[in-house]
Amino acid sequence: MVMRPKGICGLCKRERDLADSHLLPKALYRLFQGPDQGSRNPLHLSTAAKMQTSAQMKDYFLCDECEDRLNKQGERWTMANCYRGGNQFKLRESLYATEPYLSVDGSSVYATSGIQGIDHAALTYFGASVFWRAAAKSWSQAGMRYSALRLGPYAEMLRLYLHDEAPFPTQFVSLNVFVSMREPPLLGMHFPVTEPKRESFRSVHRFHIPGIQFMMVCGKDLRIDQFRGSIAAAPYHYIFASPFTEDVPAANFLHVLRMHE
Ligand SMILES: [Zn+2]
Repeated sequence: MVMRPKGICGLCKRERDLADSHLLPKALYRLFQGPDQGSRNPLHLSTAAKMQTSAQMKDYFLCDECEDRLNKQGERWTMANCYRGGNQFKLRESLYATEPYLSVDGSSVYATSGIQGIDHAALTYFGASVFWRAAAKSWSQAGMRYSALRLGPYAEMLRLYLHDEAPFPTQFVSLNVFVSMREPPLLGMHFPVTEPKRESFRSVHRFHIPGIQFMMVCGKDLRIDQFRGSIAAAPYHYIFASPFTEDVPAANFLHVLRMHE
C-alpha cells in the first residue's frame, strides 16, 4: 500500500490525506494512447522538448472528497461528451440536433439552456476547475515545470464557487466554450496558458481538450458583450461552434513541432 502524504487540501483547505491529483483529467490521457504497444504513449510537446511519454501532470493536491466533487460536478460529464476519437462527439451531436441561435460565416452560437443532452452547468464547473487548478500551484510533467496561471483575486472567487460556497462570479469572470467543427477534431490537449496582455483591465486564458476549447476572461470592467457570451450567464448559457476553434492550438502544435525538427 502506497503511503499518502497528509497536507492541506487545495480546495476545502482542510488537513487531509492527499490524492495524486491531475491538472487535466487522467481519463484524457487514455484517449491519446495509440492502438499498438510501441506507440502507446502520447506525444508531449513543449518549447523545451518533444517526447513520447506516459508522464502525466499530477501532484498531491486535493483530498478524496474534493476529487470526487470535481469528478461528479464537471469532469465525468465533460469526459463522456468531448471528442473521443472516431466519430464519437456527443456534445457536438447534441448541438447539431438543434437550430443555432445565430450563425455568421460558418460559425454558430447555441443557446444551450433548453437543449436536451447538454449540461451547461457541468461544462462551466469543469472549465472553471481546470483554470483554478492551473492557478492554485505550479505543476510539472516529465521534468518540465509549468508556472501557475496568475489569476489574482479571481482564483479565490473560483475556489469558493467550486467548493459550493459561492455562486459563479459572473460579474468578474467570463467563461467561453468553443466546440470544434473540424472533421475530425484534433485529438490533443493544450495546458492552460495566458495570452499576452493587450488591454490592462483584463486577462485572457485558454486551454483545449479534444473537440472543445475553454477561454476565460477575468477583469473588473468587462464589457457587457463579454458576459453575454459566457456559458455561465443565464438564461441562455451560450456555446459557440466554429471551424476556427482549433486554429490556436493547431498553430501552437505545429510551431513547437518545427522547433524540434
Ligand atoms: Zn478537500
